[in-house]
Amino acid sequence: MADGEFCVVCGATGRPLVEGLCSECAADREVLVAAPRHGAVTICPHCGAREVRAHWERAGTGRVLDAEDLAPFLEIHPEAGIRQIDWEETEATANVRKLVGRAAVVFRGARRDVEVPLTVRVVSRSCPECSRKSGRYYTAIVQLRGDAGRSNERPPALRSRLDGRWTEILRDARPEWRRALSWREELPEGWDFYFTETLPARAIARLAKQRFGASLKESASLFGRKDGHDVYRVTFCVRFPRPPAGPRAGPDPPTVEQ
Ligand SMILES: [Zn+2]
Ligand SMILES: [Zn+2]
Repeated sequence: MADGEFCVVCGATGRPLVEGLCSECAADREVLVAAPRHGAVTICPHCGAREVRAHWERAGTGRVLDAEDLAPFLEIHPEAGIRQIDWEETEATANVRKLVGRAAVVFRGARRDVEVPLTVRVVSRSCPECSRKSGRYYTAIVQLRGDAGRSNERPPALRSRLDGRWTEILRDARPEWRRALSWREELPEGWDFYFTETLPARAIARLAKQRFGASLKESASLFGRKDGHDVYRVTFCVRFPRPPAGPRAGPDPPTVEQ
């Protein structure tokens, strides 16, 4: 910095400047920490586990939202760091919590206290572990399988191959489809994925067929009556044949008769 340069806002000299502003003035102008006005946290009412993206974690956590629940909502300026944040619940109904986070923030060496209001909806849903314990309720199964005929693919290799496919499928699946997935079971011939709703299971099975080249067979079996209607469980058998071995891909070149 050349001698005599000064902050264009406060006129201070002898401070590092970025685009003409000292860090104190820049800190006042930037949004250092923000949060969306509304968020949602899904909690298992039985064990307290949280659903984070496509999996569940932290079983045993209470119903009170803590810093770990709320941290993902914070939008932090790339040059800012949060030294500490204390959350205070200002209002609570059964399903909605209003909170204020008070954050001690450092931005280019300047310190600021920032208040972040946030409203969080608490969604109660049984985690797969508790669903499993409480009677294994499901309406549909997606079966992930390999080749239909005899195959010398060993079960661990097959399951690991199918597991990779499943990860790709889930990545493209809508969040509401994934939410209907309750638990999975490991079998010698592949995986069974149990769903608490049929439409999401069908949507995922079709995604596997259309975008990932699987074959798909659907079958239904009657398992009871509810409110005067037959209730069916639906099975979607999704097969991923083993890709041909060897480095060569694509069809053989045409042979020329001499
Ligand atoms: Zn300044
Ligand atoms: Zn649970």
